[in-house]
Amino acid sequence: MTSAHPGLPEFDYVKPSDLSEASQFLALHVSDARPFSGGTDTFVRMRDGFFNPKYLVDVKNLEGTRILKFDASEGLTIGSAIPMNQVVAFSEAAAYYPLLVDAAKSVASYQLRSRATIIGNICNASPAGDTIGACLAYDGVLNVHGLDGHKKLPLKDFFTGPGKNLLKPGDIVLSITLPVPPKGHAGQYFKLGRNRLSDLSIVGVSALGYKDPSTKSGFTFRLAIASVAPVPFIPTLAEEILSTEPLNPDTINRAAQAAMDAVTPIDDVRGSAQYRKYMVRNLVKRAVNELQHKLTA
Ligand SMILES: Cc1cc2nc3c(=O)[nH]c(=O)nc-3n(C[C@H](O)[C@H](O)[C@H](O)COP(=O)(O)OP(=O)(O)OC[C@H]3O[C@@H](n4cnc5c(N)ncnc54)[C@H](O)[C@@H]3O)c2cc1C
Repeated sequence: MTSAHPGLPEFDYVKPSDLSEASQFLALHVSDARPFSGGTDTFVRMRDGFFNPKYLVDVKNLEGTRILKFDASEGLTIGSAIPMNQVVAFSEAAAYYPLLVDAAKSVASYQLRSRATIIGNICNASPAGDTIGACLAYDGVLNVHGLDGHKKLPLKDFFTGPGKNLLKPGDIVLSITLPVPPKGHAGQYFKLGRNRLSDLSIVGVSALGYKDPSTKSGFTFRLAIASVAPVPFIPTLAEEILSTEPLNPDTINRAAQAAMDAVTPIDDVRGSAQYRKYMVRNLVKRAVNELQHKLTA
């Protein structure tokens, strides 16, 4: 009989002393080694038998992974070893990246967030990842070390399918950099779950907006929607409607409808595809209304 509480399979813990050792080890053991940061996805998946690596490679002590800094010209850089609670408590993150802080606070529980990282959330590449939308809206760029040294990967091109991303054997994400956002921008994250705490989203809407004299509406909105497509979804037509037409209830309704028409959710235990679609429309509308209110108050 299958145990209802299976333990972890056996594995070797590997702690490389530098980046090139880490990348080489991961590339050499491509099918039986895995990097981990907070481990909150990794250990649960190992316990549940989804993967069974022979080696778990702890990348938290490597150069560049413990950085958490804001620079007025480069923006915010968050290392892969930094737990979400530390990001939430970082005053410059709260001051300049409110959408990211909102999204991070929505992940599971305080306890889990003391281990879980934003980079782990991204590399896991779940369509439901709560912090991914904010990182997309802020135009995040991943700083990666691989067999050929350092490289940068824009987040917008990173996701290739559920659980899949552009990382190659030996690649380790060291950090993400979020450029300085437009002055006076506002952010809003709406997460619909089966309960208010500790659940993955049925739909998650990340919205960022700012006054922009270069657009016809006078505003630019960035939207990213979780849990309704194989990868975190950017409703480009909805964004376009919001920047090219006067911002009024009719425009906002049509943008929300465009977002709903573009998503391709599935039925699962958390919600039906049809329910998700309707909730995309509702939450996009609510988020844009909220941002309009914040930007014009
Ligand atoms: C009870 C529970 C509740 C949860 N609730 C939520 C929720 O509400 N919202 C949500 O979005 N998620 C949730 N999760 C999922 C998980 O906690 C998050 O995705 C978390 O951010 C993962 O971060 P981590 O550092 O623990 O990742 P890890 O488990 O360390 O890694 C996750 C994946 O990323 C890869 N990886 C990690 N670090 C690196 C790196 N530096 N370079 C390359 N690859 C790397 C690993 O190989 C693995 O595939 C929940 C998980 C649990 C167990």
